[in-house]
Amino acid sequence: MESQGEVVVSSKSAVVPSTNPWNRGPESPWKGSVRVNCEPSSLADVMSEELAKELQAEEDTKIVSTATTSDEVDFDVTLLQHDNPDTTNDLLLAQMLQLEYDKEHDQMLKKEEQHVNKDSKVSISFANYRSVHPVLDEDSGDESWDEDVESIKKGSQKSTSKKGYIGKGKDITTKHDKATCGRRNAQKVVDQFPVDFDTGDYSQLEDLQLSNSVYNVLKQHSYSDEKKSHRVHEKKEHSTSEQALDSNTRLILYKIVNNGTLEAISGCISSGKEAVVFHANGGLAEGKLVPYECAIKVFKTTLNEFKTRDKYIKDDYRFKDRMKKLNPRKIIKMWAEKEMHNLMRMQKVGIRVPEVVLLRKHVLVMSFIGQDQKPAPKIKHAKLSMEQTKDAYYQCLKMMKIMYQDAKLIHADLSEYNMLWHNDLLWFIDVSQSIEPNHPHGLEFLLRDCTNVSQFFSRCGVSNVMKPHELFNYVSQLNLPSREGKAFLQQVQDYEMNEEFKSQVMATKNYAFDYFFEKSTQDESDSESDEAEEDLDVKK
Ligand code: ATP
Ligand code: MN
Repeated sequence: MESQGEVVVSSKSAVVPSTNPWNRGPESPWKGSVRVNCEPSSLADVMSEELAKELQAEEDTKIVSTATTSDEVDFDVTLLQHDNPDTTNDLLLAQMLQLEYDKEHDQMLKKEEQHVNKDSKVSISFANYRSVHPVLDEDSGDESWDEDVESIKKGSQKSTSKKGYIGKGKDITTKHDKATCGRRNAQKVVDQFPVDFDTGDYSQLEDLQLSNSVYNVLKQHSYSDEKKSHRVHEKKEHSTSEQALDSNTRLILYKIVNNGTLEAISGCISSGKEAVVFHANGGLAEGKLVPYECAIKVFKTTLNEFKTRDKYIKDDYRFKDRMKKLNPRKIIKMWAEKEMHNLMRMQKVGIRVPEVVLLRKHVLVMSFIGQDQKPAPKIKHAKLSMEQTKDAYYQCLKMMKIMYQDAKLIHADLSEYNMLWHNDLLWFIDVSQSIEPNHPHGLEFLLRDCTNVSQFFSRCGVSNVMKPHELFNYVSQLNLPSREGKAFLQQVQDYEMNEEFKSQVMATKNYAFDYFFEKSTQDESDSESDEAEEDLDVKK
């Protein structure tokens, strides 16, 4: 290691010679040259001095040659041989280079023009955007430039035609009206185009005229520019919707606060896979008091989130095709609506779920489970005594059964993460995916819920926790033959495939997805103007 270090030091000093004073130490190979002016004291010294000189000379030539052959030094060495190089032609050279550049620009413009016009009978001319005057550009042999160019050629060969600027003064005004018209167009560009629209240097020219075609092209460009910037903006908005709220959502929230339903929105409680939840303080809605503390669930408007929900709708042949056709915003609204309906249905039969305050598109306002802006903990994170845990378990069993038997719903995402513990009571939340028992896969979801519940509470140490299949039978009262694990799942699936169950599913009017199926049919026939849609306010 040490010797390597030394090598590096000496090679460095070889590359950076006498200019670096730090390399003039006793170890420096340039030591010889430093001693050039010293009195030689012996023949050996003279000899070595001469040797040093020779070496120095050798080294010098080496440096010069490497400098001149180096890739980085890319200029003609012969230029250096002239003490006073001739620079009189520099201007001409620069102009020629500029001309080449301008020609290249015009070629591109021409291609663009051809692309824009294609086979259209009415063509747009970019001629006035050309950098090179057509007369100068004779060798390009372009007959395709339209009548505008012709008029320039005829009328104003002396004037520059840069960027649609035809000319000044009387020289080109072969047709009086054209000039006035041009001036008017030019004025319009200055007056009417967006402030930040780049119109080149027109505004600085005193007597400026723009042909109709140039004016139209500019106008068109201004429109598409504006549209493009909106699109870019929109994209940005959508892409940030995972972290922040898009403008649409902000507007909805603003309106809810503005009309007094909510007094203030205080902060984000949770940003999950499918929704962002905020805390807010309730105000008054149509004379009625809104709960003092509210939770606002904003369903995420990115499609990705809904891939995870696929499992609830895929295989449902009636819904699958519809789902593809609907746009994500509508699907998201439907999920919010579904959560609202499910919450209401559960609350009606006495299940502890947040109370719905209102729904606006994909924004659902409900009562807050918790206090002083502190949301109740998920049962997973709540610090419960064994007594409380047991109590929670029994509350859970009871609510699951009521949900199935009375509300005719299966939570379908029940776990320790979607149960809150507040004031010694268990609350269910997050019910947008909840489905009816006769969903083609409803019973499988129920079995999964049962599995989550039994596993969680047995891990907590609750004794005599029902096994998943026992809980399934307790909740559904289907009394499928008791078997455990995969065998039981197979049984559930077989049951769902059973012709009798299937016909039951098909015959049920009250089928959960009928609502959405019908809704989607309506939505499809709707125009895109869902901004004008009436907000759905459940308090009405
Ligand atoms: P995740 O993906 O985390 O499950 P989610 O998108 O499914 O979230 P929810 O589960 O409904 O949305 O809500 C997320 C979190 O917000 C909940 O775990 C809970 O902590 C909190 N929360 C939701 N609703 C309420 C409410 N009404 N009161 C208090 N806290 C709530
Ligand atoms: Mn959740």
